[in-house]
Amino acid sequence: MTGFAELGLHERLLKGIEACSMETPTEVQSEAIPQALAGHDLRVTARTGSGKTAAFALPLLQHLLLEPKPLAGTRALILSPTRELASQLQKQVQALAGFTFIQSEVVTGGEDFKVQAARIRKNPEILVGTPGRLLEHLEAGNLALADLAVLVIDEADRMLDLGFGEDVSRLAAASPEQRHTWLFSATPGDANMERLVRGVLREPRVLALHTVREIHHGIRQQVITADDAAHKERLTQWLLAHETYAKAMVFTNTRVQADRLGGVLRATARNKVYVLHGEKAQKERKQAMDRLRNGDVDILVATDVAARGLDVSGLDLVINFDMPRSGDDYVHRIGRTGRLGGEGVAVSLVSASEWNLMASIQRYLDQQFEFRIIEPLKARYQGPKKRRADGRAVGSKSKKLKRKAAAKSGVKGTKAAKGAKKTANPRRKAKPAAQELKGGHATLKRKPRSQD
Ligand code: AMP
Repeated sequence: MTGFAELGLHERLLKGIEACSMETPTEVQSEAIPQALAGHDLRVTARTGSGKTAAFALPLLQHLLLEPKPLAGTRALILSPTRELASQLQKQVQALAGFTFIQSEVVTGGEDFKVQAARIRKNPEILVGTPGRLLEHLEAGNLALADLAVLVIDEADRMLDLGFGEDVSRLAAASPEQRHTWLFSATPGDANMERLVRGVLREPRVLALHTVREIHHGIRQQVITADDAAHKERLTQWLLAHETYAKAMVFTNTRVQADRLGGVLRATARNKVYVLHGEKAQKERKQAMDRLRNGDVDILVATDVAARGLDVSGLDLVINFDMPRSGDDYVHRIGRTGRLGGEGVAVSLVSASEWNLMASIQRYLDQQFEFRIIEPLKARYQGPKKRRADGRAVGSKSKKLKRKAAAKSGVKGTKAAKGAKKTANPRRKAKPAAQELKGGHATLKRKPRSQD
């Protein structure tokens, strides 16, 4: 296996690497570093926790060490979707730069604008920040990008998810064309990602290190069938009481469910529970993170939106109380467990109405989930009796029954009769095929995000 020395890195960086107790490059590091040093733009798909920060930080630092320094202006920008990640990234970059004179600063929202402007004026070579706030500084004339040599877009998929695509493109457009741009993402992403890639990268080398399937290496993925929400609550309580874990995260699709479940768990679990939902204040997110970190809380109940960007170490149990609405949401939820070789368990509670979604996600991941039964709480529902080759249910029994009942009663205008009319329409019959996942997104009707 090649060591860091063989990658052609500067001696000062090798010292930094040693000080960070990094001995051998991870896969993403040995693939990306030589390509970046050779001057190529990069599009990298690699799982969270694979060592990707050093994969871009080391060639970035090398570039700054070897290339002549302009008199003023930012030389490298690292864009991150959230504040927490930005400050983690900066800490790691600064640690690797420990034996150089290169300085970096964090520029994220929620902090005093003027204080930040003063820090930018001191000319740190690297700025690590969230796109919105960096753009504000650009527009206010505090940020000069004319000498930008390297632009890193980290967690590009989450960035797009959070609606920062436009800001990222504007920052890229304000920097020189001959810069190096390296884009990292945990998932391949959808059409928005393709648009971003086309807009900001120049003939990139594509390094798809982890397929969606491999992202979950080391995480046991289980499915437990459930009859209804009350049954799911009992299953969640059972799992939290009987599984061995340091920290657990329970995902619901709506904030109402998150609150309800939080109440139930607080009343019964021995553990300490925190509920996080909605686009809640940063303060509350920070409080949740702090409490998880120092052990005041060991169970976090959250919706997808609320959990975005949270980086919880030691998380080894994820429960999907509701099945996530897309394959990529699933990847984000369970990708929080098992960082850098750690082990984890992800359990999805699946009711009859979620079966096909679960089967589609399984297919998207190209993986078989492990089916598990908790005997004292065994569901009446054990999956559809008849399954298609792709695992999804054949037809919809309940609709047929409704149609029969409606036809028998001959009552027009009832819900059942309306349902019968609808399903009798041959165009509608063709619909279930549209439940396939496209680019990781189930085309099932999504509930509006505002519900989270
Ligand atoms: P990242 O994916 O960049 O968030 O890295 C995950 C964790 O792995 C961080 O705590 C790094 O310090 C650590 N790490 C990164 N590269 C290596 C390496 N080559 N050897 C050991 N640990 C590493």
